[in-house]
Amino acid sequence: MQKITVAKGDGIGPEIMDATLEIIKAAGAKIEIEEIEVGEKVYLAGNTAGIAKESWDVIRRNKIFLKAPITTPQGGGYKSLNVTTRKFLGLYSNVRPCTSFHPFVKTKHPAMDLVIIRENEEDLYAGIEHQQTDEVVQCLKLISRPGCEKIVRYAFEYAKQYGRKKVTCFTKDNIMKQTDGLFHQVFNEIAAEYPQIENEHWIIDIGAAKMADTPEAFDVIVMPNLYGDILSDVAAQIAGSVGLAGSANIGEECAMFEAIHGSAPRRAGQNMANPSGLLHGAILMLNHIGQTEVAEKVHNAWLYTIEEGIHTYDVFKEGISKEKVGTKEFAQAVIKNLGKKPTTLKAVNYSNGSSLKLPKYKRRAPAKKDLVGVDVFVNWQGLNADELAAKLNPIEKLCNVKLSMITNRGIKVWPDGFPETFCTDHWRCRMKPKDGLMLPKKTIAEILTQCELLGIDTIKTENLYEFDGKSGFSLGQGQ
Ligand code: NAD
Repeated sequence: MQKITVAKGDGIGPEIMDATLEIIKAAGAKIEIEEIEVGEKVYLAGNTAGIAKESWDVIRRNKIFLKAPITTPQGGGYKSLNVTTRKFLGLYSNVRPCTSFHPFVKTKHPAMDLVIIRENEEDLYAGIEHQQTDEVVQCLKLISRPGCEKIVRYAFEYAKQYGRKKVTCFTKDNIMKQTDGLFHQVFNEIAAEYPQIENEHWIIDIGAAKMADTPEAFDVIVMPNLYGDILSDVAAQIAGSVGLAGSANIGEECAMFEAIHGSAPRRAGQNMANPSGLLHGAILMLNHIGQTEVAEKVHNAWLYTIEEGIHTYDVFKEGISKEKVGTKEFAQAVIKNLGKKPTTLKAVNYSNGSSLKLPKYKRRAPAKKDLVGVDVFVNWQGLNADELAAKLNPIEKLCNVKLSMITNRGIKVWPDGFPETFCTDHWRCRMKPKDGLMLPKKTIAEILTQCELLGIDTIKTENLYEFDGKSGFSLGQGQ
C-alpha cells in the first residue's frame, strides 16, 4: 500500500480527480489517500503561496503527490504553486509524453509518440535578475553539472525502462558555449554509458522546427528548462491532445503528477471535463511507484475506450466519435474496459518496469582553478569606446594589468570596433595581467578602487578562470 497526497484543486479539478481515483482504484491500485487543500481558497484566505505549512508537511511525508489543476487568482502577489512545489521539493525532471491517437482524435501528426524530458530547476528560471544601468537589465542563466547529469541520466533511464530507442538533446551551444555547451557535453558523456540507445543532438532552433513538422522523427527529447517549457507545450498541442496529456515532476525524494491543462473554470461542476490528462498523470505515478501492472491495465483500458469512440466533448468529432459522454460516464466506460487492449492503437506494455532508481550525484574532484583576468562592467553614458579605453588607461599602469577588449552587449567595440555598432550604457572591460599569467585576486579590488577614484561607475565584475588549463569564459563576439 502506497500512501499518496491528493489535492483536488479548483474548477474542474474535483470532478476529474474523482474520476481518476475511481478508475485507478477499480484497476487495483494499492494506494491510501491523504487529501490536502491547495489553490484558490487558500490563496484568497490570504496565503500568497496557495498552500498551508501543514500541507507541505503532508506532501513531504508521503513523497508522492497527485495534484489536480488549480486556479491562480488574477492580480499581484500570488505565487504559482507549481513553480514553488518544483523548487522546494527539488523536482528536477519534468516528463511529458505527447502521443497522438489517430484516427480517433484529430491530429496533423498521426504517428507522433514522443516524450519531452525537461530540466525543471535551473537555467533562466533561477529568477536571478538585476537592473544594472538605466538601459540594461540582466537575467542569469545558471546551468550546473549536477543539474545536467541528473536530467540527462533520467532521460536515458526513462528510455531504457520504457523501451524507447533514441534520446535526442536540444541545446543552443553554438551560441551559449559554456551553459548549453555543458549540457551538451554531459549528454555526450552519459549517452556513452547507454550504447543500446541511439543518441543525437540538434541545435534547438532547427530541432524545434523539425519537431513541429515531423514529430515522428523523435522518441525521447531532453533539454534545458526554458526550451523544454516552450517545446513541451508545442508538442502537446500538435499531438492534438492538450486535454489528454499528463506530466510528472520527479525529484530524488518526492514526485508530483498532474494534467498539463488548467482548471477550466467555465466547465466546472457540469460533468463535462475530460479526466484523461489527470488520468495520464496518475498512470505516470503508478509506474513511478512500481505499480506497473495497474498502470498498464488502466492505460490499455483508456486506449480501448478512445478507440470505441466514447469521447468527452473536447475530443468529440462527428464521424469519428460514437458517443459524447460526461466525466463520470467516461470514467465508467474506462472501468468497464479494464482488462481489454486496443487493437488499432498500440497497446502499452510496462511489464519490464519498476520505479526508476537513479544513482545520487557524485561530486568530482575539483579542477585546478586559475584566475587569469577579470571582466569589469561599467555604466557609462559615452558613445565611443575609444574614449572609455582612454579613461581606463591609468588603471593599466597602476594595477599592472592590460585592457584586452571592451564589449557592449557582448559585441567587441574596442579595439578596432565598427562605428556602426549600436552601444548602450553597459560596457564590459576585460582586464588581463600584464605578464599574461595569473591575476592576483587583490588586483580586482585595486581596479575597483581606482575606477572609483577616476569617477568610473562599476556595476559588477566577473572573474575569468581557467579550469585545468581550459578556458572557462567566452570570447567577445568579433574577438
Ligand atoms: P485551461 O487549460 O484551464 O483551459 C484552456 C481551454 O481548454 C478551455 O477552453 C478549457 O475549457 C479547455 N480544457 C482544459 N482542460 C480541459 C479538460 N480536462 N476537459 C475539457 N476541456 C478542457 O487554461 P486557462 O483557461 O488558461 O486557465 C484556467 C486556470 O487554470 C487559470 O487560473 C490558470 O492559472 C490555471 N492553470 C493551472 C494549471 C495547473 O494547475 N497545473 C496549469 C495551467 C493553468
